[in-house]
Amino acid sequence: MQIKEILTQTPAEQEVTVKGWVRTKRGQAAVTFIAINDGSTIHNIQAVVEGDNNQINEDTLRSITTGACVAVTGKLIASQGSGQAVEVKAEKIEVYGSADETFPMQPKRHSMEFLREKAHLRFRTNTFGAIFRIRHNLAFAINKYFNDKGFFYLHTPIITASDAEGAGEMFHVTTFDIKNPPKTEDGQIDYKEDFFGRETSLTVSGQLEGELGALALSKIYTFGPTFRAENSNTTRHLAEFWMIEPEVAFYELEDNMALAEDFVQYVIKYALENCADDLAFLEKRLLDEEKNKPQNERSEMALLEKLRFVVDNQFERLTYTEAIEILLKSKPHKEKKFQYPVEWGIDLQSEHERYLVEKHFKKPVILTNYPREIKAFYMKQDADGKTVRAMDVLFPGIGEIIGGSQREDDYEKLLTRVKEVGIDPENIWWYLETRKFGSAPHSGFGLGFERLVLFVTGMTNIRDVIPFPRTPKSAEF
Ligand code: ATP
Ligand code: MN
Repeated sequence: MQIKEILTQTPAEQEVTVKGWVRTKRGQAAVTFIAINDGSTIHNIQAVVEGDNNQINEDTLRSITTGACVAVTGKLIASQGSGQAVEVKAEKIEVYGSADETFPMQPKRHSMEFLREKAHLRFRTNTFGAIFRIRHNLAFAINKYFNDKGFFYLHTPIITASDAEGAGEMFHVTTFDIKNPPKTEDGQIDYKEDFFGRETSLTVSGQLEGELGALALSKIYTFGPTFRAENSNTTRHLAEFWMIEPEVAFYELEDNMALAEDFVQYVIKYALENCADDLAFLEKRLLDEEKNKPQNERSEMALLEKLRFVVDNQFERLTYTEAIEILLKSKPHKEKKFQYPVEWGIDLQSEHERYLVEKHFKKPVILTNYPREIKAFYMKQDADGKTVRAMDVLFPGIGEIIGGSQREDDYEKLLTRVKEVGIDPENIWWYLETRKFGSAPHSGFGLGFERLVLFVTGMTNIRDVIPFPRTPKSAEF
């Protein structure tokens, strides 16, 4: 039985065996208290070893230190102390693996930087246990949401030959000896000789392939790893992250916005309902952390309040053009407090997005109809010829969490745009053909999974919400 289940049992001196890792040991000869955690829950179970228990010898007891892995068998009794309802009166202890004092996860507060260097052991802390249980629940909720709504999970390729997405720098995939690749007569690398007979990379998005699926299965979603060789060392970017990309035939931009809002609210609500203990722990952790900060740097809302706020409030919808007007009239713009200039046509910077979300509207915002020059070639053009049917969902503290659009479904318009942005139509002939045969209005979006986990856990660095972060100069573990 896992600790999560044992903790819910009515204590009646029934025999239980608890297997897990020792968090703390305290007490002396007369009685020893061992807190054990097996990762099934944030809560530890307490094992009590009485001093006169001659079934458990002193050597065994001595080898039980923080970090050791043990199996404790004994009777489940009502706890004598406060803080827990039940405890195990130990009768037998097996030490699977001891841990000496060099075990890095000693019971004290470690910095996130330190824990990142110990990513192989950081799972054994309360904080990372909570984060990865929440991450699992969010992944499960995402699959459940789409399944319940009739979407099919489509596995799009990780290795791709299309560099058309333009979403970011790509990692090359090759079997060439990079010191000595085959060359063509004019000295270029001869990709015809490579494994796939062409230049290939790790995908930056499953969208283009997702669209092919949607234009037959009607409702699909992808949920897989995505790679961007962007050298941006921010707290919101990873080189390897997971993305969820629903794509729906017959959806227009308005349907797409409604889906994005309903979907995000559903998964956050799922976490609120199913991860209450872990969220409460993380909320307290954040409050403790903020105690050291000046008042004006503290969050306006505690974690649970912030999550409920997103679940309970309609997202604000406005166009890019309206957003620019608000920014132009804003105090930080007038007082020249923004680092980047504001004018129609700019790609909004994080400071602008955060002003709109955190200061102006004080709730999630969906911005639509961006200038076509700053958005991808596949977005449906508006009648004015200036903007496209794009939508970005902006969240407090995170900025962009979702980017999506209605897709261009007119063959000629799409082809013209492809050429304008300098993509060789031959490279994506298959994508273009879906507009030639039975084209249909359709829309979709991409949600960065780690940005969602970041928001829900209240963590501040994206490296702390993925088990093994991949970032510039860092791919250990
Ligand atoms: P940003 O401007 O924040 O870099 P983007 O415009 O490159 O985002 P998209 O190409 O629209 O983002 O990708 C869809 C979603 O994937 C984004 O809304 C975001 O949630 C997530 N995302 C994008 N790049 C990264 C990254 N490097 N690490 C983690 N998540 C990312
Ligand atoms: Mn980007």
